[in-house]
Amino acid sequence: MIIVMRAGASREEIDNVVARVARDGFTAHLSAGAERTIIGLIGDDRPLDRQLYEVLPGVEKAMAVLKPFKLASREFSAADTLVNIKGVVIGGLPVVLMAGPCAVESRSQLLEIAHAVKAGGAQVLRGGAFKPRSSPYSFQGLGEEALKILAEAREQTGLPVITEIMTPEHLPMVCDYVDMLQIGARNMQNYELLKGVGRTTLPVLLKRGLMATMEELLMSAEYILAAGNRQVVLCERGIRTFEKYTRNTTDINAIPVLKHLTHLPVMLDPSHGTGTARYVLPVARAGIAAGADGLLVEAHCNPEEALSDGGQSLRPEQYSELVRQVRVIARAVERS
Ligand code: PEP
Ligand code: MN
Repeated sequence: MIIVMRAGASREEIDNVVARVARDGFTAHLSAGAERTIIGLIGDDRPLDRQLYEVLPGVEKAMAVLKPFKLASREFSAADTLVNIKGVVIGGLPVVLMAGPCAVESRSQLLEIAHAVKAGGAQVLRGGAFKPRSSPYSFQGLGEEALKILAEAREQTGLPVITEIMTPEHLPMVCDYVDMLQIGARNMQNYELLKGVGRTTLPVLLKRGLMATMEELLMSAEYILAAGNRQVVLCERGIRTFEKYTRNTTDINAIPVLKHLTHLPVMLDPSHGTGTARYVLPVARAGIAAGADGLLVEAHCNPEEALSDGGQSLRPEQYSELVRQVRVIARAVERS
């Protein structure tokens, strides 16, 4: 259930409702809008009597949220959530561009591509330190050494950095080095990990699982929100279908549907969505045209030698061209 306070409700009235919610055995989550505060009641699924809350001073109305995701729903926050990664804001008018290699392979490899994607227009640098590979014999990532290299790249380029976190045990170490945490598709339903990142203060990019419905993605976001972290960005990265000519099938539908259902920003990863470098640019354009708040793109200076995902990685000049074209599309849809 959510409780909508009257415009101009006093601090005391809000505190009073929060105290009542706690007494009833629920956790109150506040969404302070420009005009009014909304209080979300999170707890068990027992039916609640709206009127018990509607009689409290300062309350305009109480309503049941019928969707299984509550804090992620549009009902909870009419305004779009803005997620701030060291000053780079996702969810507003400007489209945010994140790029970098699938994996950090060496200091020179990362620094070279970091400078190249920055020159091309990227605002956030990506790079995997712990890689969820389909085979245990494939390159698993450099671990903490990669995190140190990412931190050095941030120092040199000024770009905030994002990396994938695979287990809650790594959280203290990873949080020391990076500016945003990525939950990979394979871990979208790793609930202990979701709760763990929910207890941090770093923004989180949550990728859609290979076989996950949009509702399952939103329920995973709900885990992070319910644990207290409101800085969540959703990322469509393609789902598994019967189609074989692409690695995954980019679900463009997910962008407008998620934007309708949730106040959280929605990004697109056209690299994993297609799996082939030549298809990344057209699908990136489509994503921005469909309303994505940003793009996560893999880039590498020598894709043919990449230790992971070389086939879908753009060379620096291809990445620069992608940014140029995406900016044109962004302006056409009244973004920047
Ligand atoms: C990645 O971003 O390199 C990655 C592993 O993506 P996903 O989790 O979407 O497969
Ligand atoms: Mn990858």
